[in-house]
Amino acid sequence: MRTLLIGALVFLSGGLSLPAMALEACENDLARLDADFDGGRISDCVVDGDSFEIRIDPEDQPINPSPWYSFRVTPKQTGDLKVSIRYSYGKHRYHPKRSSDGRTWTIVDPIYVRERQKGKRVVMTLEMGEEPFIVSAQELVGVQAYDRWEKGMVAQHSFLERKKVGTSVEGRPIYALISTPPNPGPNREYVVLLGRQHPPELTGAFAMFSFVNTVFADTELASRFRDRFDVVAISLMNPDGVANGHWRHNVNGKDLNRDWGPFSQPETQAAQKILDAIADDENRQLRLMLDFHSTKRNLFYTQTKKEKTNPDKFTTRWLEAAKRRFDYYEFTREERRQRNLPTSKNYSFGRFGAPAMTYEVGDETNRAAVSASAVVFAEEMMRTLLSYDEEDLGKDKASRN
Ligand SMILES: [Zn+2]
Repeated sequence: MRTLLIGALVFLSGGLSLPAMALEACENDLARLDADFDGGRISDCVVDGDSFEIRIDPEDQPINPSPWYSFRVTPKQTGDLKVSIRYSYGKHRYHPKRSSDGRTWTIVDPIYVRERQKGKRVVMTLEMGEEPFIVSAQELVGVQAYDRWEKGMVAQHSFLERKKVGTSVEGRPIYALISTPPNPGPNREYVVLLGRQHPPELTGAFAMFSFVNTVFADTELASRFRDRFDVVAISLMNPDGVANGHWRHNVNGKDLNRDWGPFSQPETQAAQKILDAIADDENRQLRLMLDFHSTKRNLFYTQTKKEKTNPDKFTTRWLEAAKRRFDYYEFTREERRQRNLPTSKNYSFGRFGAPAMTYEVGDETNRAAVSASAVVFAEEMMRTLLSYDEEDLGKDKASRN
């Protein structure tokens, strides 16, 4: 057995479209390779007898080294296929996964994956049956999958609204799932959730799906929470980057999580409008901002304990409450003093004084643990915020401008 099951994305009901091939030369007697699908990426392909060598380039340079690759193998025979990947920039980071239906993904057994030249090259042997399959840096969760998920959420929950809040550079809609208290008082308290600014960061996306599902669930806790708090979730901030199989940027070559302040891109402008609407009304307060990402290991980038947030000590209380409830998901709190780096975290804390964090999940963290812990993080986030009396919190301490 060459593959280990890593889980099915049952709530996403994926499926892969099968358009025509882009790289016509990329075939031999054994198989045909292409990347002509949402999230696919092969920059060049050379056939060398029975094997293939793929080159993977970033969308532009310089760039954070998150080399994304994703290709489809259409077998002409059963048996083994040797595929090498050569990175023109950066080095191997994501262990290959494979899927024949776009829903269930398995990890390609590490004994069939060999790094060469200090990670500049990786050679893998893939077992072929009769069915086409995709080999990918991480599971594919594309624009259509978000669309289906968000439509499903709205169909399931009458309190939810899905609103188009912007349009990407290539014209893709950017949506927010929005929950408004049924009987809102004069004062409104907001929680803003963001995801997928960086296309390859799938484990952060898995955490966000689970987190958002929990906040929008029909439970007593979640209902009580939504009775008081407005929730805005923009789950797919960079649809163009996701569709084009980017490593990091939007199609203008911008790292969106370095554009909070300049707001030079339509994708970040979509989120800016939401924060402006909170800032422009003195009866609206931001209570929390969470931005979901992936990195080498599980961690939260937070304010330092010396930096006063409103609500005060929220981060410590939240993370400690969650930690008490599981032992299967290890994480650290990484305190980062406020500085000028224009991230969503620094911007949100700087403008509102609210706790603002980057929720980072390890690239290869067990997917079941990612999802299960995100349920707990969501529940404890709701309990912790509800434990603060609205009167005591008062208005934001920061400038708002
Ligand atoms: Zn990121």
